[in-house]
Amino acid sequence: MEQSHQALSSKSEAFIEKENKYGAHNYHPLPVVLEKGEGVYVWDVDGKKYYDFLSAYSAVNQGHCHPKIVGAMVKQAQTLTLTSRAFYNDQLGPYEEFVTEYFGFDKVLPMNTGAEAVETALKICRKWAYEVKGIPENQAQIIVCENNFHGRTTTIISFSNDENARKSFGPFTAGFIKIPYDDIEALENALKSTNNIAGFLVEPIQGEAGVYVPADGYLAKAKALCEQYNALFIADEVQTGIARTGKLLAVHHENVQPDILILGKAISGGVYPVSAVLANNAVMNVIKPGQHGSTFGGNPVAAAVAIAALEVVRDENLSQNAAYLGVVLRTGLNEIASRNPLITLVRGKGLLNAIVINCDEDSDLAWDICMKFSEYGLLAKPTHGNKIRLAPPLVITETQIHECLGIIERALNDFR
Ligand SMILES: *Cc1c(COP(=O)(O)O)cnc(C)c1O
Repeated sequence: MEQSHQALSSKSEAFIEKENKYGAHNYHPLPVVLEKGEGVYVWDVDGKKYYDFLSAYSAVNQGHCHPKIVGAMVKQAQTLTLTSRAFYNDQLGPYEEFVTEYFGFDKVLPMNTGAEAVETALKICRKWAYEVKGIPENQAQIIVCENNFHGRTTTIISFSNDENARKSFGPFTAGFIKIPYDDIEALENALKSTNNIAGFLVEPIQGEAGVYVPADGYLAKAKALCEQYNALFIADEVQTGIARTGKLLAVHHENVQPDILILGKAISGGVYPVSAVLANNAVMNVIKPGQHGSTFGGNPVAAAVAIAALEVVRDENLSQNAAYLGVVLRTGLNEIASRNPLITLVRGKGLLNAIVINCDEDSDLAWDICMKFSEYGLLAKPTHGNKIRLAPPLVITETQIHECLGIIERALNDFR
Protein backbone atom coordinates (compact mmCIF):
# COMPACT_ATOMS: atom_id res chain seq x y z
CA MET A 1 0.00 0.00 0.00
CA GLU A 2 1.59 3.27 -1.15
CA GLN A 3 0.62 6.05 1.22
CA SER A 4 1.69 9.64 1.41
CA HIS A 5 4.16 10.50 4.15
CA GLN A 6 5.11 13.93 5.37
CA ALA A 7 8.75 14.56 5.91
CA LEU A 8 9.37 13.24 9.42
CA SER A 9 11.90 14.67 11.80
CA SER A 10 14.80 12.35 12.56
CA LYS A 11 13.64 12.34 16.17
CA SER A 12 10.19 11.04 15.17
CA GLU A 13 11.70 8.57 12.76
CA ALA A 14 13.89 7.08 15.47
CA PHE A 15 10.90 6.37 17.73
CA ILE A 16 8.91 4.89 14.86
CA GLU A 17 11.82 2.67 13.89
CA LYS A 18 12.09 1.32 17.42
CA GLU A 19 8.40 0.38 17.45
CA ASN A 20 8.77 -1.24 14.06
CA LYS A 21 11.80 -3.21 15.09
CA TYR A 22 10.90 -4.29 18.61
CA GLY A 23 7.10 -4.20 18.68
CA ALA A 24 4.66 -6.66 17.12
CA HIS A 25 3.12 -5.13 14.02
CA ASN A 26 -0.46 -5.35 15.24
CA TYR A 27 -1.27 -1.68 14.56
CA HIS A 28 -0.78 0.71 11.66
CA PRO A 29 -0.40 4.11 13.35
CA LEU A 30 -0.37 7.49 11.69
CA PRO A 31 3.30 8.57 11.66
CA VAL A 32 3.04 11.04 14.54
CA VAL A 33 5.03 10.54 17.76
CA LEU A 34 3.35 12.16 20.76
CA GLU A 35 4.97 13.12 24.03
CA LYS A 36 2.50 15.34 25.86
CA GLY A 37 -1.22 15.94 26.23
CA GLU A 38 -3.40 18.53 27.91
CA GLY A 39 -7.16 18.91 27.46
CA VAL A 40 -8.00 18.76 23.76
CA TYR A 41 -4.36 19.06 22.69
CA VAL A 42 -1.42 16.71 22.19
CA TRP A 43 2.15 17.61 21.27
CA ASP A 44 4.63 15.61 19.22
CA VAL A 45 8.31 15.12 20.02
CA ASP A 46 9.19 18.16 17.91
CA GLY A 47 6.87 20.37 19.92
CA LYS A 48 4.14 20.59 17.29
CA LYS A 49 0.65 20.96 18.78
CA TYR A 50 -2.43 19.11 17.50
CA TYR A 51 -6.13 18.89 18.24
CA ASP A 52 -6.85 15.29 19.20
CA PHE A 53 -9.92 14.23 17.21
CA LEU A 54 -9.66 10.56 18.14
CA SER A 55 -9.47 10.89 21.95
CA ALA A 56 -7.91 7.40 22.15
CA TYR A 57 -11.10 5.91 20.70
CA SER A 58 -13.19 7.95 23.16
CA ALA A 59 -11.19 6.97 26.27
CA VAL A 60 -10.07 10.55 26.99
CA ASN A 61 -13.51 12.17 26.93
CA GLN A 62 -12.48 14.28 29.94
CA GLY A 63 -9.43 15.62 28.06
CA HIS A 64 -5.78 14.62 28.31
CA CYS A 65 -4.18 14.53 31.77
CA HIS A 66 -7.19 15.98 33.55
CA PRO A 67 -5.68 17.31 36.81
CA LYS A 68 -8.47 15.98 39.03
CA ILE A 69 -8.22 12.45 37.59
CA VAL A 70 -4.42 12.38 37.52
CA GLY A 71 -4.44 13.80 41.06
CA ALA A 72 -6.69 10.97 42.28
CA MET A 73 -4.40 8.44 40.64
CA VAL A 74 -1.19 9.86 42.08
CA LYS A 75 -2.67 10.11 45.58
CA GLN A 76 -3.93 6.52 45.55
CA ALA A 77 -0.75 5.22 43.87
CA GLN A 78 1.27 6.58 46.77
CA THR A 79 -1.01 4.93 49.33
CA LEU A 80 -2.10 1.48 48.14
CA THR A 81 -2.12 0.14 44.58
CA LEU A 82 -3.08 -3.50 44.64
CA THR A 83 -4.42 -5.94 47.20
CA SER A 84 -5.99 -8.45 44.81
CA ARG A 85 -9.53 -9.48 45.64
CA ALA A 86 -8.22 -11.97 48.15
CA PHE A 87 -8.71 -9.15 50.69
CA TYR A 88 -11.01 -6.14 51.00
CA ASN A 89 -9.72 -2.61 50.51
CA ASP A 90 -11.05 0.83 51.47
CA GLN A 91 -11.49 2.04 47.87
CA LEU A 92 -13.52 -0.67 46.13
CA GLY A 93 -16.72 -0.61 48.23
CA PRO A 94 -17.15 3.19 48.00
CA TYR A 95 -16.47 3.00 44.23
CA GLU A 96 -19.02 0.21 43.77
CA GLU A 97 -21.62 2.24 45.65
CA PHE A 98 -20.77 5.33 43.61
CA VAL A 99 -20.78 3.70 40.17
CA THR A 100 -23.98 1.68 40.72
CA GLU A 101 -25.85 4.78 41.91
CA TYR A 102 -24.39 6.81 39.05
CA PHE A 103 -25.75 4.43 36.42
CA GLY A 104 -28.77 3.07 38.30
CA PHE A 105 -27.93 -0.61 38.80
CA ASP A 106 -27.81 -2.86 41.87
CA LYS A 107 -24.31 -4.22 41.28
CA VAL A 108 -21.06 -3.84 39.36
CA LEU A 109 -18.39 -6.37 38.39
CA PRO A 110 -15.10 -4.49 37.93
CA MET A 111 -12.62 -5.46 35.21
CA ASN A 112 -9.80 -3.64 33.37
CA THR A 113 -10.28 -3.56 29.60
CA GLY A 114 -13.29 -3.30 27.33
CA ALA A 115 -12.82 -6.77 25.86
CA GLU A 116 -12.65 -8.28 29.34
CA ALA A 117 -15.88 -6.54 30.27
CA VAL A 118 -17.57 -7.88 27.12
CA GLU A 119 -16.33 -11.40 27.97
CA THR A 120 -17.67 -10.93 31.50
CA ALA A 121 -21.08 -9.84 30.21
CA LEU A 122 -21.27 -12.87 27.89
CA LYS A 123 -20.43 -15.23 30.76
CA ILE A 124 -23.01 -13.62 33.06
CA CYS A 125 -25.61 -13.80 30.29
CA ARG A 126 -24.98 -17.50 29.65
CA LYS A 127 -25.06 -18.34 33.36
CA TRP A 128 -28.32 -16.44 33.77
CA ALA A 129 -29.74 -18.32 30.77
CA TYR A 130 -29.00 -21.72 32.34
CA GLU A 131 -29.70 -20.98 35.97
CA VAL A 132 -32.57 -18.50 35.79
CA LYS A 133 -34.20 -18.80 32.38
CA GLY A 134 -33.76 -22.57 32.31
CA ILE A 135 -32.10 -23.12 28.94
CA PRO A 136 -30.57 -26.64 28.71
CA GLU A 137 -26.82 -26.66 29.47
CA ASN A 138 -24.58 -25.67 26.52
CA GLN A 139 -27.55 -24.68 24.35
CA ALA A 140 -27.60 -20.92 25.00
CA GLN A 141 -27.39 -18.60 21.99
CA ILE A 142 -26.53 -14.91 22.12
CA ILE A 143 -27.66 -12.66 19.27
CA VAL A 144 -25.04 -10.21 17.95
CA CYS A 145 -24.93 -7.75 15.04
CA GLU A 146 -23.06 -7.76 11.76
CA ASN A 147 -20.13 -5.33 11.58
CA ASN A 148 -19.87 -5.29 15.37
CA PHE A 149 -16.73 -4.36 17.25
CA HIS A 150 -16.51 -5.70 20.81
CA GLY A 151 -12.76 -6.29 21.21
CA ARG A 152 -10.06 -8.78 20.30
CA THR A 153 -10.32 -11.93 22.42
CA THR A 154 -10.88 -15.33 20.82
CA THR A 155 -14.55 -15.49 21.82
CA ILE A 156 -15.24 -11.94 20.69
CA ILE A 157 -13.65 -12.37 17.27
CA SER A 158 -15.67 -15.58 16.96
CA PHE A 159 -18.69 -13.42 16.18
CA SER A 160 -16.92 -10.63 14.29
CA ASN A 161 -17.27 -10.41 10.54
CA ASP A 162 -14.02 -8.54 10.06
CA GLU A 163 -12.10 -11.24 8.20
CA ASN A 164 -8.75 -9.58 8.93
CA ALA A 165 -9.51 -9.83 12.67
CA ARG A 166 -10.53 -13.51 12.37
CA LYS A 167 -8.39 -15.18 9.74
CA SER A 168 -6.12 -17.94 11.11
CA PHE A 169 -7.34 -17.46 14.69
CA GLY A 170 -9.89 -20.30 14.69
CA PRO A 171 -11.39 -22.58 15.95
CA PHE A 172 -13.98 -20.19 17.24
CA THR A 173 -16.41 -20.10 20.17
CA ALA A 174 -19.90 -21.33 19.26
CA GLY A 175 -23.23 -20.00 20.51
CA PHE A 176 -23.74 -16.76 18.62
CA ILE A 177 -26.35 -15.79 16.03
CA LYS A 178 -25.45 -12.86 13.80
CA ILE A 179 -28.15 -10.55 12.46
CA PRO A 180 -28.00 -7.26 10.50
CA TYR A 181 -27.61 -4.15 12.67
CA ASP A 182 -30.49 -1.70 12.88
CA ASP A 183 -32.98 -4.36 11.73
CA ILE A 184 -35.80 -4.95 14.23
CA GLU A 185 -37.47 -7.60 12.11
CA ALA A 186 -34.25 -9.63 11.99
CA LEU A 187 -34.02 -9.38 15.78
CA GLU A 188 -37.58 -10.58 16.28
CA ASN A 189 -37.05 -13.48 13.84
CA ALA A 190 -33.90 -14.52 15.69
CA LEU A 191 -35.62 -14.28 19.09
CA LYS A 192 -38.50 -16.40 17.73
CA SER A 193 -36.26 -18.94 16.02
CA THR A 194 -35.47 -20.94 19.18
CA ASN A 195 -36.28 -20.99 22.90
CA ASN A 196 -32.58 -20.88 23.67
CA ILE A 197 -31.85 -17.18 23.24
CA ALA A 198 -30.00 -15.86 26.28
CA GLY A 199 -29.46 -12.27 25.20
CA PHE A 200 -28.81 -9.63 22.57
CA LEU A 201 -25.43 -7.87 22.54
CA VAL A 202 -25.45 -4.51 20.75
CA GLU A 203 -23.50 -1.27 20.35
CA PRO A 204 -25.97 1.65 20.60
CA ILE A 205 -23.94 3.26 17.79
CA GLN A 206 -21.45 1.13 15.84
CA GLY A 207 -18.26 3.14 16.36
CA GLU A 208 -15.58 1.07 14.66
CA ALA A 209 -17.91 0.23 11.77
CA GLY A 210 -17.76 3.96 10.94
CA VAL A 211 -20.09 5.61 13.45
CA TYR A 212 -23.21 3.92 12.17
CA VAL A 213 -26.19 5.45 14.00
CA PRO A 214 -29.29 3.20 13.98
CA ALA A 215 -32.77 4.51 13.20
CA ASP A 216 -34.61 6.36 15.96
CA GLY A 217 -36.52 3.87 18.07
CA TYR A 218 -34.30 0.88 17.25
CA LEU A 219 -32.85 0.52 20.73
CA ALA A 220 -36.18 0.99 22.52
CA LYS A 221 -37.86 -1.54 20.25
CA ALA A 222 -34.98 -3.99 20.66
CA LYS A 223 -35.18 -3.67 24.44
CA ALA A 224 -38.97 -4.27 24.35
CA LEU A 225 -38.51 -7.37 22.17
CA CYS A 226 -35.86 -8.72 24.54
CA GLU A 227 -38.33 -8.31 27.41
CA GLN A 228 -41.07 -10.01 25.43
CA TYR A 229 -38.85 -13.04 24.71
CA ASN A 230 -37.14 -13.08 28.13
CA ALA A 231 -33.67 -12.38 26.72
CA LEU A 232 -31.12 -9.99 28.26
CA PHE A 233 -30.50 -6.70 26.46
CA ILE A 234 -26.73 -6.17 26.71
CA ALA A 235 -25.45 -2.70 25.74
CA ASP A 236 -21.76 -2.37 24.86
CA GLU A 237 -21.23 1.31 25.71
CA VAL A 238 -17.44 1.04 25.89
CA GLN A 239 -17.15 3.67 23.13
CA THR A 240 -20.57 5.41 23.22
CA GLY A 241 -20.81 5.71 26.99
CA ILE A 242 -19.78 8.36 29.50
CA ALA A 243 -21.26 11.43 27.76
CA ARG A 244 -19.71 10.86 24.32
CA THR A 245 -23.00 10.96 22.38
CA GLY A 246 -24.55 13.86 24.29
CA LYS A 247 -26.18 11.76 27.03
CA LEU A 248 -24.44 9.91 29.84
CA LEU A 249 -25.20 6.69 27.92
CA ALA A 250 -26.24 6.42 24.27
CA VAL A 251 -29.20 4.21 25.29
CA HIS A 252 -30.53 7.17 27.30
CA HIS A 253 -31.47 8.85 24.00
CA GLU A 254 -34.25 6.26 23.91
CA ASN A 255 -34.83 5.97 27.67
CA VAL A 256 -33.55 2.40 27.67
CA GLN A 257 -32.02 0.80 30.74
CA PRO A 258 -30.07 -2.29 29.61
CA ASP A 259 -30.17 -5.55 31.56
CA ILE A 260 -26.39 -5.62 31.33
CA LEU A 261 -24.31 -2.49 30.75
CA ILE A 262 -20.68 -2.73 29.58
CA LEU A 263 -18.38 0.25 30.18
CA GLY A 264 -14.69 0.84 29.55
CA LYS A 265 -12.48 3.49 27.95
CA ALA A 266 -13.67 6.87 29.37
CA ILE A 267 -14.80 5.44 32.71
CA SER A 268 -11.18 6.17 33.67
CA GLY A 269 -10.69 9.31 31.59
CA GLY A 270 -8.03 7.39 29.73
CA VAL A 271 -5.45 7.50 32.50
CA TYR A 272 -5.70 3.87 33.59
CA PRO A 273 -7.39 0.70 32.29
CA VAL A 274 -10.77 0.43 33.98
CA SER A 275 -13.87 -1.40 32.77
CA ALA A 276 -17.12 -2.41 34.39
CA VAL A 277 -20.16 -4.60 33.92
CA LEU A 278 -23.34 -3.42 35.62
CA ALA A 279 -26.58 -5.34 36.21
CA ASN A 280 -29.32 -5.77 38.76
CA ASN A 281 -29.31 -8.51 41.39
CA ALA A 282 -31.58 -10.86 39.44
CA VAL A 283 -28.83 -11.13 36.84
CA MET A 284 -25.58 -10.38 38.68
CA ASN A 285 -26.28 -12.75 41.56
CA VAL A 286 -25.69 -15.76 39.28
CA ILE A 287 -21.97 -15.11 39.77
CA LYS A 288 -20.52 -16.82 42.86
CA PRO A 289 -16.98 -16.88 44.32
CA GLY A 290 -14.42 -18.51 42.06
CA GLN A 291 -16.54 -18.25 38.91
CA HIS A 292 -15.01 -15.09 37.46
CA GLY A 293 -12.35 -12.57 38.36
CA SER A 294 -9.21 -10.60 37.59
CA THR A 295 -6.11 -9.82 39.66
CA PHE A 296 -6.25 -6.11 38.82
CA GLY A 297 -10.05 -5.76 38.47
CA GLY A 298 -11.36 -3.25 41.00
CA ASN A 299 -7.93 -2.38 42.38
CA PRO A 300 -7.65 0.71 44.61
CA VAL A 301 -6.08 2.91 41.93
CA ALA A 302 -8.76 1.95 39.41
CA ALA A 303 -11.50 2.67 41.95
CA ALA A 304 -10.12 6.11 42.86
CA VAL A 305 -9.52 7.03 39.21
CA ALA A 306 -12.98 5.97 38.05
CA ILE A 307 -14.76 7.98 40.75
CA ALA A 308 -12.76 11.08 39.79
CA ALA A 309 -13.36 10.51 36.07
CA LEU A 310 -17.12 10.15 36.54
CA GLU A 311 -17.24 13.21 38.81
CA VAL A 312 -15.53 15.27 36.11
CA VAL A 313 -18.20 14.18 33.59
CA ARG A 314 -20.92 15.40 35.94
CA ASP A 315 -19.21 18.54 37.32
CA GLU A 316 -18.13 19.81 33.90
CA ASN A 317 -21.46 19.04 32.20
CA LEU A 318 -19.75 17.00 29.51
CA SER A 319 -23.00 15.40 28.24
CA GLN A 320 -24.53 18.81 27.63
CA ASN A 321 -21.34 20.07 25.99
CA ALA A 322 -21.17 17.02 23.70
CA ALA A 323 -24.82 17.40 22.72
CA TYR A 324 -24.50 21.10 21.93
CA LEU A 325 -21.11 21.02 20.20
CA GLY A 326 -22.07 17.89 18.27
CA VAL A 327 -24.72 19.93 16.51
CA VAL A 328 -22.23 22.75 15.86
CA LEU A 329 -19.69 20.27 14.45
CA ARG A 330 -22.14 18.41 12.19
CA THR A 331 -23.67 21.67 10.96
CA GLY A 332 -20.20 22.92 10.05
CA LEU A 333 -19.25 19.63 8.41
CA ASN A 334 -22.45 19.62 6.36
CA GLU A 335 -21.65 23.16 5.19
CA ILE A 336 -18.19 21.98 4.13
CA ALA A 337 -19.80 18.99 2.37
CA SER A 338 -22.06 21.37 0.45
CA ARG A 339 -18.93 23.13 -0.89
CA ASN A 340 -16.70 20.09 -1.27
CA PRO A 341 -17.95 16.88 -2.92
CA LEU A 342 -15.19 14.84 -1.23
CA ILE A 343 -17.52 14.44 1.78
CA THR A 344 -20.49 12.29 0.81
CA LEU A 345 -22.03 11.96 4.26
CA VAL A 346 -21.77 13.40 7.75
CA ARG A 347 -23.19 11.34 10.61
CA GLY A 348 -23.02 10.91 14.35
CA LYS A 349 -24.49 11.86 17.68
CA GLY A 350 -23.02 14.24 20.21
CA LEU A 351 -19.27 14.30 19.66
CA LEU A 352 -19.07 10.82 18.11
CA ASN A 353 -19.09 11.63 14.41
CA ALA A 354 -17.74 10.51 11.08
CA ILE A 355 -17.41 11.86 7.59
CA VAL A 356 -17.65 9.44 4.69
CA ILE A 357 -15.15 10.22 1.95
CA ASN A 358 -16.08 9.93 -1.71
CA CYS A 359 -13.81 6.96 -2.53
CA ASP A 360 -13.71 3.15 -2.39
CA GLU A 361 -13.24 1.44 0.98
CA ASP A 362 -9.80 0.20 -0.09
CA SER A 363 -8.60 3.57 -1.41
CA ASP A 364 -5.84 5.45 0.45
CA LEU A 365 -7.64 8.77 0.13
CA ALA A 366 -9.04 8.84 3.69
CA TRP A 367 -5.56 8.05 5.03
CA ASP A 368 -4.02 10.80 2.89
CA ILE A 369 -6.65 13.25 4.14
CA CYS A 370 -5.80 12.34 7.74
CA MET A 371 -2.12 12.98 6.92
CA LYS A 372 -3.14 16.41 5.67
CA PHE A 373 -5.22 17.06 8.82
CA SER A 374 -2.11 16.15 10.82
CA GLU A 375 0.03 18.56 8.80
CA TYR A 376 -2.47 21.32 9.65
CA GLY A 377 -2.62 20.35 13.34
CA LEU A 378 -5.51 17.93 13.81
CA LEU A 379 -5.27 14.18 14.48
CA ALA A 380 -7.90 11.75 13.23
CA LYS A 381 -7.75 8.25 11.82
CA PRO A 382 -9.73 6.48 9.10
CA THR A 383 -11.94 3.60 10.17
CA HIS A 384 -13.08 1.03 7.65
CA GLY A 385 -11.36 2.60 4.68
CA ASN A 386 -13.32 5.62 3.61
CA LYS A 387 -14.73 6.87 6.91
CA ILE A 388 -12.94 9.32 9.18
CA ARG A 389 -14.07 9.42 12.79
CA LEU A 390 -14.16 12.89 14.38
CA ALA A 391 -14.38 12.56 18.15
CA PRO A 392 -12.55 15.25 20.13
CA PRO A 393 -12.37 15.27 23.94
CA LEU A 394 -15.69 16.51 25.35
CA VAL A 395 -14.02 19.48 27.07
CA ILE A 396 -13.57 21.17 23.69
CA THR A 397 -15.08 24.67 23.29
CA GLU A 398 -17.21 26.16 20.54
CA THR A 399 -14.37 28.45 19.43
CA GLN A 400 -12.07 25.44 19.15
CA ILE A 401 -14.68 23.49 17.13
CA HIS A 402 -14.83 26.39 14.66
CA GLU A 403 -11.05 26.46 14.40
CA CYS A 404 -11.07 22.70 13.72
CA LEU A 405 -13.72 23.07 11.03
CA GLY A 406 -11.35 25.55 9.40
CA ILE A 407 -8.52 23.02 9.48
CA ILE A 408 -10.75 20.26 8.10
CA GLU A 409 -11.99 22.39 5.20
CA ARG A 410 -8.52 23.69 4.35
CA ALA A 411 -7.15 20.14 4.26
CA LEU A 412 -10.02 18.81 2.16
CA ASN A 413 -9.63 21.66 -0.31
CA ASP A 414 -6.05 20.47 -0.99
CA PHE A 415 -7.55 17.32 -2.55
CA ARG A 416 -9.95 18.93 -5.00
C1 LIG B 1 -12.76 -0.34 22.27
C2 LIG B 1 -13.99 -1.17 22.36
C3 LIG B 1 -14.01 -2.43 22.99
C4 LIG B 1 -12.75 -3.08 23.50
O1 LIG B 1 -12.12 -2.36 24.48
P1 LIG B 1 -10.57 -2.67 24.82
O2 LIG B 1 -10.29 -1.87 26.04
O3 LIG B 1 -9.78 -2.23 23.63
O4 LIG B 1 -10.46 -4.14 25.04
C5 LIG B 1 -15.21 -3.09 23.11
N1 LIG B 1 -16.35 -2.57 22.60
C6 LIG B 1 -16.39 -1.39 21.98
C7 LIG B 1 -17.68 -0.87 21.47
C8 LIG B 1 -15.21 -0.65 21.82
O5 LIG B 1 -15.23 0.52 21.17
